[in-house]
Amino acid sequence: MTDTIRIAIQKSGRLSEDSLKLIKECGIRFDNGGGKLKTAATNFPAEILFLRDDDIPGYVEDGVAHLGIVGQNVSEETNRTVDTVHKLGFSKCRLSIGVLREQEYNGVQDLDGKSIATTYPRLLGEYLAANNVTAHIHEISGSVEIAPSIGLADAVCDIVSSGSTLLSNGLKEVETIFRSEAVMIAGKNLPAPQQALLDQLLFRIKSVQVAKNNKYILLNCPNESVDSIIEYLPGMRSPTVLPLAQKGWSSLHSVINENDFWENIEKIRQAGAEGILVIPIEKMIL
Ligand code: ATP
Ligand code: MG
Repeated sequence: MTDTIRIAIQKSGRLSEDSLKLIKECGIRFDNGGGKLKTAATNFPAEILFLRDDDIPGYVEDGVAHLGIVGQNVSEETNRTVDTVHKLGFSKCRLSIGVLREQEYNGVQDLDGKSIATTYPRLLGEYLAANNVTAHIHEISGSVEIAPSIGLADAVCDIVSSGSTLLSNGLKEVETIFRSEAVMIAGKNLPAPQQALLDQLLFRIKSVQVAKNNKYILLNCPNESVDSIIEYLPGMRSPTVLPLAQKGWSSLHSVINENDFWENIEKIRQAGAEGILVIPIEKMIL
């Protein structure tokens, strides 16, 4: 079992579904039924550990797990000696300071002498110090957003994505102190077999991520339009051009970035493209 890589992911919470999805999209199959704490992959030398997210950086530092998937917020807050090996693009959120909506707020100096409730004392402390603000950090383990309305603190420092939780608790967001997304972390000095497995995994993750940002595009056009349409469809090397059964027409196949697609679709149509099909790509090996 020494040549198995152990990957720690959140047992149940906001990271869980996307972490499992990513591992599955990398072609790794495993049985995670029955609320297990540990499971072995059936077609890759990997074990998955299901843990509280706060515990993951510590387990990775100690070598209990070789890899972990956590929010950058948790990774930074726990301040363990681990490497961030890849950004995963999901669970995007920010750590922000909020105050009661009716409270006047003109800038970070207004927090001087105030008390701020948070589960992120380290990140908040660093932010306050960098801004020369002295505030009392009131560390609590959850339900941070009700602290001001029950008189526990003057302000909060908490995770925000849409801002609706702050709003529904009568708070307004006044400072963003940290931007976060899910990341893969790895232990320092992984043994060679695990480093090799990590490299394989990263290769797969990157192929999945690139594929998500790109689409396969097929279209028909008159032969004389091919050159002008190709300008908008450079493809991976260059587009494939095939003759249609109808004389004077071609079929053009290429790969296009999702964002470029929406920007260029009108120009492609004006250049003479018809019957445009855009198809998702599952994996893309560059
Ligand atoms: P655990 O029980 O494992 O300790 P938790 O309650 O601490 O879980 P979650 O609320 O599941 O944590 O959040 C896990 C991570 O997901 C956060 O650390 C953050 O990186 C990210 N996250 C939190 N809230 C949001 C949100 N609203 N939108 C996107 N990502 C979020
Ligand atoms: Mg947690």
